[in-house]
Amino acid sequence: MARIVIIGAGVGGLGTALCTARSGHRVTIVERDDTPLPTDPHGAFEWDRHGAPQVRHSHAFLARLRNLLRDRHPDVITALLDAGATELRFLEMAPEGMDLEPEPGDEDLAALACRRTTFEWVLRRMALAEGAVELIHGRSVTSLVTADETVDGIPLVVGVTLSDGTTLDADVVVDAGGRRSDVPALLAPHGVEIPEAEEDTGIIYLSRFFRLLDLDESPPSVVVGADLGYLKYGVFPGDNHTFSITFAVGSRDSEMRRLLLDPDRFLTAAALIPATAPYVDGRSEPITDVEVMGGLINRRRWFLNDGDRPLVAGFHAVGDCHTATNPLYGRGCSLAMVQAQVLADLLSDPAMVADHVARATAYEKAVHAEVTPWYDAAVAQDRFNRSQTPGSPPATPAGADDGVDIAVRPDAGASDPTEVDPSDFLRGVLREGLLPALRSDPVVLRAFLATFNLLRPPDSLLSDADVIGRVMAIYQTRNERPAEPPLGPTRAAFLAAV
Ligand SMILES: Cc1cc2nc3c(=O)[nH]c(=O)nc-3n(C[C@H](O)[C@H](O)[C@H](O)COP(=O)(O)OP(=O)(O)OC[C@H]3O[C@@H](n4cnc5c(N)ncnc54)[C@H](O)[C@@H]3O)c2cc1C
Repeated sequence: MARIVIIGAGVGGLGTALCTARSGHRVTIVERDDTPLPTDPHGAFEWDRHGAPQVRHSHAFLARLRNLLRDRHPDVITALLDAGATELRFLEMAPEGMDLEPEPGDEDLAALACRRTTFEWVLRRMALAEGAVELIHGRSVTSLVTADETVDGIPLVVGVTLSDGTTLDADVVVDAGGRRSDVPALLAPHGVEIPEAEEDTGIIYLSRFFRLLDLDESPPSVVVGADLGYLKYGVFPGDNHTFSITFAVGSRDSEMRRLLLDPDRFLTAAALIPATAPYVDGRSEPITDVEVMGGLINRRRWFLNDGDRPLVAGFHAVGDCHTATNPLYGRGCSLAMVQAQVLADLLSDPAMVADHVARATAYEKAVHAEVTPWYDAAVAQDRFNRSQTPGSPPATPAGADDGVDIAVRPDAGASDPTEVDPSDFLRGVLREGLLPALRSDPVVLRAFLATFNLLRPPDSLLSDADVIGRVMAIYQTRNERPAEPPLGPTRAAFLAAV
C-alpha cells in the first residue's frame, strides 16, 4: 500500500483519490479552498471556490467520462443520478423522422448533465466514503520535498510542505492543482525543468445559472450551442431544475464583454438568440450574477525528456496542470478522469508502485497517447476560430498578448463578395452540409457524437471518407432547400438591441 498525497480537490484530484484508493492505497488530498462538505448539491453550489473559479461556469460531462464511470465506478453514476444529475442519451433526442435503427454502441452515446459543483460534491463524498481517503481543506501545498538521493540521477519527490509548515511524507505525490498550478515553479528548486507550450484560446467566458420556476418542467434536455462568429453561446442542462447559459466572446472584444457583464443585458442577449430565448421567456429566474473568466489558455507540459526518461520521479501531474484545453470543447473533466484511472491502474501493480522511473515513463506515454491528440485538435481549432472572431488575439503564444483592444469588424463574414475565402467555404460546408446532415443522416450523427464525446480520435471525422461524402452530398443540394434559419442576429443588430 502506497501513501499518496494529492494537491487539489477538483475533478482531477478527487478522481485520482477515488481511483487510487480503490487500487488499495492510502490517500491524503490537500485543498487550498476552505470548503467543508455541505449536505446537498445546493450547499455545494454556494462553495467559495476561488481555487477553481470555473465551477461557476457551464460544464458538460462528456460520454468519455460517463462511460469510464459506468464501466469502472458505476456507484458514482448512481450517486450522481440520486443527486439530481441526468443522462443525456443523444440518440433518444435525434430529430423526428430520422431513420434510426438501434446499433451496437448506441448505449455509449450519452453524457451527464449537472452543475460542476454537484459533480464535485458527489465525487468528494464517494472518495471520502472509501475510508482510506483523508481531505485537508483550507491549507495549500507550498513546496515539494525531495530525497537526498536521486533515482538513477532523477530527483525523487518524497513529500510536500503545507502553508502551515506541516510536512506530509508520501510514496507518490500527485499534482492536480488545475490550470493555475505552476508545476515548473514547484519543481524548479529541485533542479527539474519542465518544458511547456501555451497558446491562447482567444475567448473569455460569461455564464449565468438559472432555476426553472415550474418544478414540473424539465430543464433543457440537450446541450445547445452555436457560433455566430462574433459570439459563441451554449445552454447547458443542470441538476435539480437548474440550467446555465454561457456566452464566449473574443478576449479583446471589450465592448461585447462590457455589455454581457451587465445582468439585464445578459438576459436581453439571451432573448435575442433563437436557441436561448425559450429559456429566458419568464419560465426561469437567475440564481447567479454574470460570472466572467479569462486567461483561458491551451497548455501542455512535458515530463519525459527526448529519450523518454522521466524528468522527475515520485511525482505525477493529473488534469489541467498537465494539459489544459479550451473549455469550449468540454473535454477537461473527461481527460482528467482518464489520467486518474491510468495512474490508478499502474499503481495497482506492486512492481510499478516500487519502480518510480518505470511508472513515470508508463504514465506519461499512456497520457500522451490519450491527451495530446485532443490538445493538438484544440489548438488547431482555436487558430481557425481566432481568425474568424472579431476581438480575438492573433495566433501568438499566450502571454505575448499586448492586451490592447483591437478594432472589431462590424459583421463577421462581411468581406469582399468577389473573394473566395477558404474559411468561408469551410463555414459554409459546416452550416449547409454538416448541420443538415446531423438532422437527417444517422451515420453522420453517430460519427459526430462519438468524436465530440472523445470516443473516437479527434481527426476521425475528417478522415472518414464515408462521412465526408455524405456531408458534401448534402452540401451540394443546398440551393434546392430553403436556406438554414439564422442562428442569431448579426453583430450590428445584436449590439443595437443589447
Ligand atoms: C470556464 C471553464 C469551463 C469548463 N467547462 C468544462 C466542461 O464543460 N466540461 C469539462 O469536462 N471540462 C470543462 N472545463 C475544464 C474543467 O473544469 C477541468 O478540466 C477540470 O476541472 C479538471 O481540472 P483539475 O482537477 O485539473 O483542476 P481544478 O478543477 O481546477 O482543481 C484544482 C484544485 O486544486 C486546488 N489547488 C491548486 N493549487 C493548490 C495548492 N498548491 N495546494 C492545495 N490546493 C491547490 C485548487 O484550489 C482547486 O480546487 C472547463 C474549464 C473552464 C475554465
